[in-house]
Amino acid sequence: MTSTSNHKSVVGVSHVEGSPQRKRPYGWLLMAAGVAIAGSGVSFVAATARAHADNLDARVAFDSTAREIAGALQATLQHEEDLVVSLGAVVAANPEITTEELRTWVDSLRAPRRYPELLGVGAMSIVQNAELDAFISRLRADPAVPLGPTAPVAISPTGERPFYCLLQAAIGIGAVPANAAFAVDYCADANGAAILRARDSGSALNLAVPSDHGPRLTVETPIYRGGALPETVEARRAEYLGSIATSLSPAVIFATVLQADPGATIVLRSGTGPSAVVFTSRAGPLKTLSVVVDIGNGWSATISEPARHRGVFASDVVALATAGCAASVLLGALILALGTGRRRAVGLVARRTDELRHQALHDALSGLPNRTLILDRVEQLLSRCRRNDTVGAALYIDLDGFKDINDTLGHEAGDQLLQAVATRLSTALRGVDTIGRMGGDEFVVLVEDGSLHVAPEHVAERLLEVLRQPFELDAAPHAIVVSASVGIAIGDRTTASDLLRDADIALYRAKAAGRNCYKLFRPDMETAGRHQFELDFDLRSALDNQQFRVYYQSIYDLSDLSIVGAEALVRWQHPTRGLLQPDEFVPLLEASGGIIEVGRWVLRDACRQAKIWVDQGHRLSVSVNVSARQLDRDSIIEYVAEALTASELDPAQLVLEITETALMKDTELTANRLHALKALGVRLAIDDFGTGYSSLAYLQRFPVDCLKIDRSFIESIGESAEAGALMHTLVQLGKDLGLKTLAEGVETTAQLDHLRSEAVDRAQGFLLARPLSAEAFESQLLLETNDSPAFYGTGHHVGRSHLPS
Ligand code: C2E
Ligand code: CA
Ligand code: CA
Repeated sequence: MTSTSNHKSVVGVSHVEGSPQRKRPYGWLLMAAGVAIAGSGVSFVAATARAHADNLDARVAFDSTAREIAGALQATLQHEEDLVVSLGAVVAANPEITTEELRTWVDSLRAPRRYPELLGVGAMSIVQNAELDAFISRLRADPAVPLGPTAPVAISPTGERPFYCLLQAAIGIGAVPANAAFAVDYCADANGAAILRARDSGSALNLAVPSDHGPRLTVETPIYRGGALPETVEARRAEYLGSIATSLSPAVIFATVLQADPGATIVLRSGTGPSAVVFTSRAGPLKTLSVVVDIGNGWSATISEPARHRGVFASDVVALATAGCAASVLLGALILALGTGRRRAVGLVARRTDELRHQALHDALSGLPNRTLILDRVEQLLSRCRRNDTVGAALYIDLDGFKDINDTLGHEAGDQLLQAVATRLSTALRGVDTIGRMGGDEFVVLVEDGSLHVAPEHVAERLLEVLRQPFELDAAPHAIVVSASVGIAIGDRTTASDLLRDADIALYRAKAAGRNCYKLFRPDMETAGRHQFELDFDLRSALDNQQFRVYYQSIYDLSDLSIVGAEALVRWQHPTRGLLQPDEFVPLLEASGGIIEVGRWVLRDACRQAKIWVDQGHRLSVSVNVSARQLDRDSIIEYVAEALTASELDPAQLVLEITETALMKDTELTANRLHALKALGVRLAIDDFGTGYSSLAYLQRFPVDCLKIDRSFIESIGESAEAGALMHTLVQLGKDLGLKTLAEGVETTAQLDHLRSEAVDRAQGFLLARPLSAEAFESQLLLETNDSPAFYGTGHHVGRSHLPS
């Protein structure tokens, strides 16, 4: 019906419009020709504009990739600087470090794995002329130093000088041999002046050092007696012990950071003129598109890329212009035929429909496919996989703590972050993979067949890795560091939503496992996921319903096995599930932020309880765990002060246990908060010591009193000589820095004996006592006092039946 009437009306128009044609026979023809010519002109102009726009797009895309690369480069150099600062702390605490000891430390920091670019580490010592012979004999005695037992050592450059800068320990990583130039005076060498300037300024230094394997990048930092940076230049010269340097492969660094754009070239430069340090990722002239980015510390990176320059004669632009001309001619013909603008109206409607369709299927903020389109893509993925007998996977990605960023920095910063995350994720993927935004801070990535010979786990690792590099946003005053959690579901499902739901469940598991990690979906997770969900729900009312309990685990003085303290450990008395351990609910509290209020309550309750025991005449302190989330805001200072005031506990009897990883989060702010806490009179302990990221740098920066050596080290006692050596070094480091050492997780008498032989100060563990309710702990305290024979005088004794004598 409709089409008939349409047809009629078209015919009708043509017929009606036909009549003036006879009056002005060339009118429509002229008009049509005019339209065709004008249209072709417009098409040509449009094509030129399009070429410009493309060039601009390419420029913008390149700029963002280049910034990405520069960010990765900056993070790598910073990472390396952290490593030398950590190692510097070790050498400051142990100035006569040997090659073997250095190797133990480097291994304990898991440096070869964490720093793939690392080729070697060297500790250089300042040797006064008078001490030269003694120094050389000491080196000769070291079996790890290739100095031969007798041959004379000729220091290069030759000549007598007041002091020499000589290697005292050096190791190579992997197959690369140590470039153990043990007879070189580095202060009189080509880089000598720079090394001495670094000595005077105290700052880290980057050098280019020639080697048999091509030039290497060296990151070096001066070391002073005692570890801290002396105030004046005179004092720095007097306290200078030498320096520690890592030697890096520029090729590996470049290969890593160029993953975002393998076609790009990097020129890394420090300084100017003939003394400039320059590394280039690829020989040849600079490509046309290039940007220079200041990456801090005197370094700049020039990143360039072959121009994808598109003139008007680029083939698809020609096609565009041609198509435009053809369309115009056609349009002219139509006008000629119909004498109406109908064709244009239809085109306009079609274009507008396309735009609307795009808007309906894409996310406005990131431009990525939205939930609807992703569901459609998952359907396609599933049916393609069934047809071709291949495997697909969905990765559900969710930023950790995005809400906090939005709350503290504002929505503009939040939006910018989401855009930057979208870009970064997209660049980390292959073209065949699909990425979309599900809303909020949730993204989904689909990978399939061809790309599956790279396992989805590797894709997840890679995505997590690219997100870990700091984000620089216009709307944020400082670089933002985020992490994410990823859930992965692999294989066939009945519907698209099933696959996404499974990935979501796995994501939930990754969050519960402490975030910043990925988890693979397993079928038994579904119920567990629901279980977690219910727990999460119940947790919200647990504090109000007074369901939390504090348990206490004794801490012993190792010299006489008397109780000197108790660690407060929270438990949840769940109405139906019984007494729950922290690993079942603390991660949930941390994810939701509930830990802040629960932690506040634990502080108050533990202080109140400790005060009761102190008033009963027991001499003990109480240790309370403070999680990273609590340390994230200033309120922690207020809460600690509040707990102390309310309980009237002597602040010196409160110890705050802070994990090493929490300390690494935002060093500047964290340091300020720790100093404020310290000013209240409380003591600070580093929990899980030895497991952290860049272990030691903060020992100098934070006002710490005690190192609580992680259970994993105690567990490995007796396993190997290296484990023993590592324990020894950790304990020694604590002692050298004047800190108390505490070993946690002591389970066997053999471990206890070993810890005593190492003169560790304190111990805690199931061998000695389990965490107990306040009542049970109190009975234990009384027992201890009662069964101490009075003649020991101290009120403590060592003869508990289950302990070794
Ligand atoms: P953590 O701070 O490392 O606490 C020591 C954990 O080791 C305790 O587990 C304790 O029961 C356990 N443990 C002690 N001796 C031994 C031993 O000889 N062998 C073994 N295998 N384990 C031993 P728990 O009570 O399950 O606490 C687990 C974690 O939960 C704590 O680790 C801490 O990180 C967190 N946590 C506990 N209470 C609180 C709290 O009030 N606030 C915060 N933020 N975190 C807490
Ligand atoms: Ca602890
Ligand atoms: Ca611990």
